[in-house]
Amino acid sequence: MNDHQPRKLIIAVDGPAGAGKSTIASRLARKLGYTNLESGAMYRALALKAIEWDISFDDEDALAKLAHNSRIQLEPTSTGNRVLLDGHDVTQRVRETDVTEGASRVSVHPRVREWMVARQQEMGAGGGIVMEGRDIGTKVFPRADVKIFLDADPVVREQRRLQQQKLSGGAAQLTAAELRLRDKRDRTRATSPLVAAPDALLLDSTSMSEDEVLQKVEELVRKKLG
Ligand code: C5P
Repeated sequence: MNDHQPRKLIIAVDGPAGAGKSTIASRLARKLGYTNLESGAMYRALALKAIEWDISFDDEDALAKLAHNSRIQLEPTSTGNRVLLDGHDVTQRVRETDVTEGASRVSVHPRVREWMVARQQEMGAGGGIVMEGRDIGTKVFPRADVKIFLDADPVVREQRRLQQQKLSGGAAQLTAAELRLRDKRDRTRATSPLVAAPDALLLDSTSMSEDEVLQKVEELVRKKLG
């Protein structure tokens, strides 16, 4: 065992859609040689399974049972997480509009969240991870070494998300109103709503470049690493 190995941190990146979490989390993970885990993809995978099994997004009992009988895996690649649902690659499918809407709805249920949080804690337990989501710094890893809460002006976030959708070329697209609804659902749900942890570094990316945001985050990480 080498005592001089740098500590493998747990880094939480939370914030609403369109704030730039994914880009920052993946660039940071690459720089540090860490694993980037997109927790939202797990809610997406469960929503997809609910669609396939014809289970209502409002049926907490059935969704919790479904989660317990599912194997959801995230495999980091250079272009984001590969998402496996019961061994099948669903990476592209989970980005489609019906799944995006479903993920937002299945994630309000406490028993669904309980299952997700336990899996996410297992995945990150060894450290050396950058996990992005909505409740990573508050619930999944309340003792994370570094917590970032990335936000941006709602209009700017909507523009970014709509632009991303256009680039990814999906047939059906979420409207700005649907994005706003998703946001509201995340912020107002009773269990683990989207809020910044009191000890998170708050960054507003409205008029910051990606490089500037990354630099701020890196400064904090380097401080933690001593
Ligand atoms: O981040 P992404 O857009 O992939 O997340 C999909 C949905 O999953 C979000 O709209 C949110 O409702 C939910 N989510 C969550 N908690 C997380 C990650 C995502 O509730 N940690």
